[in-house]
Amino acid sequence: MSELTLRAEKLDGADELAGLRDRFVLDEGVYLDGNSLGALPANVPDHIGEVVRRQWGELRIRSWTEGGWWTAPERVGDRIAPLVGAAPGQVVVGDSTSVNVFKALVAAVRMARQDGAGERDEILVDATTFPSDGYIAQSAARMTGCALRPVTPAEVPGALTARTAAVLLNHVDYRTGRLHDLPSLTAAVHAVGAYAVWDLCHSAGALPVGLDEHGVRLAVGCTYKYLNGGPGSPAFLYVRRDVQDRFDSPLPGWNSHAEPFGMRPGYEPAAGALRGRVGTPDILSLLALEAALGVWDGVPVEAVRAKSLALTDFFLECVDAYVPAGRVESLTPAAHEERGSQVALRCPDAGEAMKRLIERGVVGDFRHPDVLRFGFTPLYVGFADADRAARVLAEVLA
Ligand SMILES: *Cc1c(COP(=O)(O)O)cnc(C)c1O
Repeated sequence: MSELTLRAEKLDGADELAGLRDRFVLDEGVYLDGNSLGALPANVPDHIGEVVRRQWGELRIRSWTEGGWWTAPERVGDRIAPLVGAAPGQVVVGDSTSVNVFKALVAAVRMARQDGAGERDEILVDATTFPSDGYIAQSAARMTGCALRPVTPAEVPGALTARTAAVLLNHVDYRTGRLHDLPSLTAAVHAVGAYAVWDLCHSAGALPVGLDEHGVRLAVGCTYKYLNGGPGSPAFLYVRRDVQDRFDSPLPGWNSHAEPFGMRPGYEPAAGALRGRVGTPDILSLLALEAALGVWDGVPVEAVRAKSLALTDFFLECVDAYVPAGRVESLTPAAHEERGSQVALRCPDAGEAMKRLIERGVVGDFRHPDVLRFGFTPLYVGFADADRAARVLAEVLA
């Protein structure tokens, strides 16, 4: 056994989170794609079976009230809240991340304008963003009569002016795994009277976010990556308590009306985070997510972060030791304060290499044109997995 393989065994033996793997349905392979689709928590299938049979099949319409369906978006939001550092009453779950980016970004521009000072006719968007966020930002800019300026997160402080209305940023870059400085960027954006909108898709459930602590006003994130909510599970929207009264949604559906069953022609927004709701929630997915969040019981996100950094450090060390020099180049920052929970390796034949890795039971993903992505979900990935993945990668690339 190599020194690294022995060390992996020791590290797994000392890992306090190792037992959490049993809370998931997994096989003998190495699953490093939890940053695209989190693994299935073992309690979900029976729970959803029960929801379908009992709540839908027997209680039917009564489940909206007796089964707690109507209030599920806020209830599940409050379950996610501690994982992103939010006090209750500020997170609502529903719709996709893309739709929530739209709500938050348009609301951000509206609030910046309500605040009064200046023109506020520019939106800054992370130039390296996940495409959907970029498309939505283009449309939001057109609708609000703003110019859209793509800048890298590092360029944001220098690009802010008295005309900036809103800035759409990713906490962790989906391609490279780079973690951006949320506290200082948020402060810089707010200092010029603009509103930051944070996309937490690759940080929620992977590291402490500290939304309340860092003064974030608007954030969105998905629940099917590190929160393991299942394919297409609804996203979340965070609206800080002190801006909720001014949050003017561009999608004001009946679910966010102050009196939804009043069936009035005029819209009057409800108080609180549920202002972010639109139409009838996706109950089956929402309740699958609620059950999936049970895996976090008693698990501090700080412990998850510590293990995530140790795992990605260890994987990088294994790659260095096993993969022939120069064959891959890491795009993931070496500094812990700049690293999310994934390792991205540039490799000219990445598409073909990932296909062969998957055939051999090591599942990561390929991002066009030349990136191998390996997501590390500390709830169910261990050090021996990292060692094995690096060894198989070396064989595939040899
Ligand atoms: C995964 C991801 C999304 C996904 O958006 P959907 O609307 O859920 O498809 C959006 N933004 C970022 C940064 C992502 O990583």
